[in-house]
Amino acid sequence: MGLSEYKNKRNFKESPEPTGATSKSGDQLIFVIQRHKASRLHYDFRLELEGVLKSWAVPKGPSMNPADKRLAMMVEDHPYDYKNFEGVIPSGYGAGIVEIWDQGTYTDIDNSDFTTAVKNLKAGLKAGNLKVALNGSKLKGEFALVKIKGREEENTWLLIKHNDKHAVSKPYSSEDLTDEDSPINEWLKQQKSGSKKKALL
Ligand code: MN
Repeated sequence: MGLSEYKNKRNFKESPEPTGATSKSGDQLIFVIQRHKASRLHYDFRLELEGVLKSWAVPKGPSMNPADKRLAMMVEDHPYDYKNFEGVIPSGYGAGIVEIWDQGTYTDIDNSDFTTAVKNLKAGLKAGNLKVALNGSKLKGEFALVKIKGREEENTWLLIKHNDKHAVSKPYSSEDLTDEDSPINEWLKQQKSGSKKKALL
């Protein structure tokens, strides 16, 4: 826990990422989903809890369809300030492009008062069965993060949408919901066209 792993992995002379103080947003918990084109394109799912962002890398991105069980690898805690980070990481750990795909507030699924919600969320995290209610622009309603037990890989979780009024039954791809001016899409387009023009990286 804490931010030592986050700090150890990064060289802040090279990377524009936040150096990482912990802080608090008051009586509302926030979440952010960052789309990250590193060696592989993936999504980073981050939930504020106790001053840091609990973080999972989701290779296929989140889904609003309860039939999808999306692999979510838990990674090191990120600093609270990371919620605003977008940009190019020129080299080193996570080198590539980061853009915010969705953000908003969240709570436990009982919609408890702040203190109770934090208590429930901490217990869920510890038990490997974390249930959250998201209020973002793209992601809404209840989700579960369930840790897969008995795996050699300790940090393997699944991200699953609960069947509520926000759920969809059609195939869902987070890639269809990227911003028009997405720097990652621009980069992918340049790769595809084989353009000799120097890409962002
Ligand atoms: Mn990432």
